[in-house]
Amino acid sequence: MKVLVINAGSSSLKYQLFDMDDESVLAKGNCERIGAHNSVLTHKPTGGDTVEHMEYMKDHMAAINLVFKALTAEEGGVIKDMSEIQAVGHRVLHGGEKLYESTMVTDDVEATIKKHTPLGPLHNPANLAGIRACRQIMPHVPQVAVFDTGFHHTMPEKAFMYALPYEYYTDHMVRRYGFHGTSHRYVSAEAARYLGRTGDPDFKVVTCHLGNGSSFAAVKGGVCIDTSMGLTPLEGIPMGTRCGSIDPAIIEYVMGVENLDIHEMLTVLNKKSGVLGISGIGSDFRDLWIAAEEGNNRAKLALDMFCYSGGKYIASYAAAMNGMDAIVFTAGIGENDWDVRSGMCEYLTFLGVRINLEKNKVKARSILDVTGEGSTVKVLVIPTNEELVIARDTRDIVAAN
Ligand code: AMP
Repeated sequence: MKVLVINAGSSSLKYQLFDMDDESVLAKGNCERIGAHNSVLTHKPTGGDTVEHMEYMKDHMAAINLVFKALTAEEGGVIKDMSEIQAVGHRVLHGGEKLYESTMVTDDVEATIKKHTPLGPLHNPANLAGIRACRQIMPHVPQVAVFDTGFHHTMPEKAFMYALPYEYYTDHMVRRYGFHGTSHRYVSAEAARYLGRTGDPDFKVVTCHLGNGSSFAAVKGGVCIDTSMGLTPLEGIPMGTRCGSIDPAIIEYVMGVENLDIHEMLTVLNKKSGVLGISGIGSDFRDLWIAAEEGNNRAKLALDMFCYSGGKYIASYAAAMNGMDAIVFTAGIGENDWDVRSGMCEYLTFLGVRINLEKNKVKARSILDVTGEGSTVKVLVIPTNEELVIARDTRDIVAAN
């Protein structure tokens, strides 16, 4: 079965085409700057050369049409025609409390995703645009939605509730949902498999998804029991441009002294904070390390804050699980930035965590075990594969229907 996986953002659309008979990737690509006149699709067939399609993509519908063109083109194409695609899996940010399990897309499912736009104002409309475009262009092909929140739905009440009036939960669904679920699910399962602990209800792992957005999860026996992102992806550790957890009273205070309205304030919290806000340099960790080495104190502070906050999250999740067998680092920073990995682990020696500094300086292409001598906790780097999780769910749901 050939499954197309779509991850639609507001002005971008990433895709991967899988052959699920052997779970191989046939091609992948990215449409960038959708809606702008310099939009471009970069397409990479597995084992072949990258092909660029410089074409104006007015909207997501135009982007999907261009994806099909790239997949079937003479140069770089990997299928003869669209009818070879038997199912499409969509990454969806937020389906609220009721819609969290991967599911076949119906009109009702679309309506529920739309209804939860206030909880995912940047992502849900884009995810919907991708779904609608695919349903329109290929009406007879099953479409499956896979939710970023899904894996975290097993959290107990004490972990997902906020200490606000209880009615805010019952009436307005205000609770912790958590995000990056497909990534936490994939790497926690891979860690269990690698360590021979699959199916072990006592296997306790803290997964650290560190990318532009960063989140942590406490996973016990394959089940998520806590995670650092909340009602929205703004909560948790300071991120590339997001502030992470702050004193909520800061919001009113800063709005007053800076004369900001709530939309401007939310833009500050989402786009101008995090390591960008602290350093004043940017959100890419490679730039921050260079600046810090050159003596830039604010870049160094941003990195220190990131590692400090991460170390504290990992330790608190060891407490949440009353133990910790493994720590897994994944995503852009987690997979590539060994200074961040060792920086976070420095706060964890009291828990028996030791990292092998030499092994840690290897780029992870597959599972990399960086556990140090005498460590009572395994430290692993596992490249994430959210697209594969979506493709697997899509295959399974289509097969079951
Ligand atoms: P992601 O959101 O998972 O794609 O991660 C993107 C982020 O990963 C970038 O903003 C960088 O900060 C970080 N990153 C990617 N490659 C490296 C690298 N080689 N070293 C340090 N950080 C990296």
